[in-house]
Amino acid sequence: MNKILKTVTRQICALWILTVLFLVLSYECTAEAKSEKEIKIAVATFSHETCTFCPDSTTIEDWEYYGPPTRDILRSNRGYIGGFKTMCEEYGGIELVGMTSPRDARGGSSGSWNTREVFEKYTNLILEDLKKLGPFDGVFLALHGAMAARDIPKPEAELVRRIRKVVGNIPIIVTLDLHANEDHELSDAADAVFIVKRYPHYDTTLQGERAARVMINTIRGKYKPTMVTRKPGVITPSVFQGTGVSPAMDIMERARRWECRIPGVYVSVAFGFAYADVPDVGATVMVVTNNDQKLADEIADDISDYIWQMRKEFAGKILPKTKEGVALAIEAVRQGKTPVVIADHSDRTGGSTYILEELIKQGAKNFCIATLRDEKAIEKIESEAKVGDQISINLGGYSDKYAGNPVKANGKVEFLSETGRDKIAVIGFGENNHVILTPQLMQVTDTTIFRPVGIDFKTLDIVVLKSRVHFRRGYHETGIAGAIFEVDAPGWGPADLSTLPYKNIPKDTFPIYRKE
Ligand SMILES: [Zn+2]
Repeated sequence: MNKILKTVTRQICALWILTVLFLVLSYECTAEAKSEKEIKIAVATFSHETCTFCPDSTTIEDWEYYGPPTRDILRSNRGYIGGFKTMCEEYGGIELVGMTSPRDARGGSSGSWNTREVFEKYTNLILEDLKKLGPFDGVFLALHGAMAARDIPKPEAELVRRIRKVVGNIPIIVTLDLHANEDHELSDAADAVFIVKRYPHYDTTLQGERAARVMINTIRGKYKPTMVTRKPGVITPSVFQGTGVSPAMDIMERARRWECRIPGVYVSVAFGFAYADVPDVGATVMVVTNNDQKLADEIADDISDYIWQMRKEFAGKILPKTKEGVALAIEAVRQGKTPVVIADHSDRTGGSTYILEELIKQGAKNFCIATLRDEKAIEKIESEAKVGDQISINLGGYSDKYAGNPVKANGKVEFLSETGRDKIAVIGFGENNHVILTPQLMQVTDTTIFRPVGIDFKTLDIVVLKSRVHFRRGYHETGIAGAIFEVDAPGWGPADLSTLPYKNIPKDTFPIYRKE
């Protein structure tokens, strides 16, 4: 009897313990679920680098050349949005909602002022979706920072201000390109800004990931972004901004050092885009800390002072002009340093022929222009010839005042096709010279363009690229080029900024107004 009683008591005890354990566990689970509630973040992009000195306005037609605005912006795992998405997936419990956003504008940064309609149309599409698809816990914006729009002095700041009016007091976090022209208006409107630290821009995905981490921790109350902005008052031509060389490299290293020393600190530097005549032109330092204003000020001052200190090295280099640059390239060929790459960095619209003309004049052979923008020549080839035919044709030199003169070639149609989004044609002439024609500026950043059009890059003596620094990823860092010359031919994007007719930039900007 006693034994039975003992067994029953033991069973009751066990049941009681199990019940208590169950209750405790279920409470813990509910508590966990409450603090880790589903987070909903709106994602949008509206990105343009505007060369205001370039001739043609950027219109809605340019923005919709590759298709209408789309909400389908969350596909890729790369780039600012891809990085943001990947990090959100790692955290889990986060819903991302794409806002209707414009695609890339035709011609990229060879386009001049965006019309006011462009800014209003795409801003309104984003605002409408925010209203329709919300409420949200945060907004992530992948912007560029060098957009210029008629009647809107600082478009990115204005976009964020309008978004703020709709969404209220939730985190708005922005990523920017290294060529951004921004100031305190953006940091006043947004909660945190992250800018790529590398040019070529390898770290877009990384900055998207960092933006996501700060976004999630801010929403969960674990981080309180405190941001400050400094303008050192320095503008530099893009061609000097490659972060593989000093002083651009040293500035970014200094920013990274702060980030490594102090957890939760994010130090962003935009070198700016000199070819936009806008009031917030030039370098910008943006520092984000976790609720530490004093630290943010200290770091921002340090980086800003350092950029000022480095200003002459950074902005004041002198590049060879066309004749001298082409002569240097031909000499390098003589020394066997092939393929020699010429960066025609100042041609921002893609149709200039100064270097092509000079190569012919100085008797260069076995060269390739990759690429020359000439829609008319492509049309003529399409209507009059087929691959293998001889043709007499004018190449480039007409699109705008810095395009030089058309170059007459009696040559052979070596290639004609639509590849990807645009048409492409190749004319061969002289002693194994080629001009690859595209309907708009193309920055050829690696060598993949050559093989499909029948050109063996490695056997060329000289290759001319319409690029400033991005070409370095495929030609310099791979070690594939025997020598590289940046040549300062006439163009919309000169290395000597004092030749540009600025009207809107601050009067204390180095090297335009302040010489010392
Ligand atoms: Zn850029």
